[in-house]
Amino acid sequence: MNGIDPRTDIVGLTRQELAARFAECGLEASLIKPVWNWVYVRGATDFSGLSSLSKARRAVLEMNFIISRPEIIRDLKSLDNTHKWLLQFLDGQRIETVLIPEQDRGALCVSSQVGCTLSCSFCHTGTMPLVRNLTAGEIVSQGLVARDRLSEWNQPRQACLVTNLVLMGMGEPLFNYENVAKALAILIDGEGFAISRRRIMLSTAGVVPMIYRVGRELGVNLAISLHAVRDDLRDELVPLNKKYPIQELLQACSEYPAASNARRITFEYVMLDGINDSDADARELTRLLNGIHAKVNLIPWNPWPGAGYQSSPIERIQSFSRIINAAGFSAAIRATRGEDIMAACGQLKSDSERPRARTPR
Ligand code: SAH
Repeated sequence: MNGIDPRTDIVGLTRQELAARFAECGLEASLIKPVWNWVYVRGATDFSGLSSLSKARRAVLEMNFIISRPEIIRDLKSLDNTHKWLLQFLDGQRIETVLIPEQDRGALCVSSQVGCTLSCSFCHTGTMPLVRNLTAGEIVSQGLVARDRLSEWNQPRQACLVTNLVLMGMGEPLFNYENVAKALAILIDGEGFAISRRRIMLSTAGVVPMIYRVGRELGVNLAISLHAVRDDLRDELVPLNKKYPIQELLQACSEYPAASNARRITFEYVMLDGINDSDADARELTRLLNGIHAKVNLIPWNPWPGAGYQSSPIERIQSFSRIINAAGFSAAIRATRGEDIMAACGQLKSDSERPRARTPR
């Protein structure tokens, strides 16, 4: 139910929940499969073309259910073909979703919250004044919008750009675990949207107890926003570190069940000039990651208005990367995508300005 339409939105219901609602409406369980296909394979937004069903059944569906989409407030495409959509939900709250296309695939960068409570000092999203969790339906709907806009419904995977999901948009997914888990169950379903858990990456600033839960219950790929190798500095950059310090975080990573040589945990490390980017930091990083199925992703820091940081120069990033490589870890330097439309990592923000002055150390 939502405030405007009393009917149930199918988007965001698990199969079990849909089955329960169907039973309440007197619809047979055998209709779940065709309706699920209609919503998540065909991408339909109403029931009018669902001709395999009798008119009477369609009328019951129309009376009781909707298949909603958020409103698209802005649809931007960057010079490098990165897409960014500003989406508005029924309460007027807005989030951003970004599609980062490659040659024959693409990653959809999904938001899990409106705003973010983490207040990482270098991240734009943390400056948004309002925060609320997204519902499972609001998370799922970001995938649906991307397929709508790219005309990718009912296409073979080779023809699609929405092939991978990264929970790296606005918000901390592990502060909204229940809705994220439900949304992923819906998006993973093989008879529907069908993105396998191996093509999903969940990024967290390090909510340690929930990392264990992700390991037990979701089994998706894990990314950790590490960004510093000492607690005093990480306390400052990622204040959540005061609650879950580096050692506890790495312990959870070393026990993550889905990690293996083939499926490494990604450690994200934003390169801040003169702050966390020395050769000594790189050596300490390799020491910390020893014994973990890890790879490192070095992220040039992306600027946003009012931030007090600079990105490390490329030569510094390369030197940092060489040290990590020499210790046997892959250390890719993340290409910045979509910068011209403020769609790059840490640039997402959807509300009115509330600049936060930062002085570099
Ligand atoms: N809260 C989760 C999900 C957000 S992911 C997390 O922290 O992992 C967004 C990623 O972009 C995180 O690794 C974040 O630390 C990084 N990031 C934030 N601001 C950035 C910036 N200005 N430049 C580059 N990366 C940034």
